[in-house]
Amino acid sequence: MDQEYILILHSHLDTLERLAIDKLPNESCAILLGKGSSNKRVVEYILPMNNSSHSSIEFTIDADDLYHAYNKARLMNLDIIAIFHSHPSQPIPSYMDKIFMLINPVIWIIYSTSSHTFKAFTFDKLDQIQEIRILPIKD
Ligand SMILES: [Zn+2]
Repeated sequence: MDQEYILILHSHLDTLERLAIDKLPNESCAILLGKGSSNKRVVEYILPMNNSSHSSIEFTIDADDLYHAYNKARLMNLDIIAIFHSHPSQPIPSYMDKIFMLINPVIWIIYSTSSHTFKAFTFDKLDQIQEIRILPIKD
């Protein structure tokens, strides 16, 4: 099986990092729009989302905000390729994250505000969590 990966501009990673730090102590979240095939996706636009849970251990994106994101993607002729959120702890999916990953089978990118690292995951065809590579690209 081909290695899966996601390409993202350095400036987009900076934007996500800033978002995560700005929203502390709460978790931050965003929806990433882009294009690509199943193995190789390219982030083209970041939509910061409101964490309506206002929590440091979970996040919720309201249906209205999600609707707005889908609309924006359609207007820009892009797909929702990834969901981003931050953790105060390790950048690995929590139990609740895994449940939502099954419901939303896109790439999940998690940023740790303690280790300052990004990780990306999908559920593979065997319904197992699979880490995928994040390839930063120059602007
Ligand atoms: Zn999480």
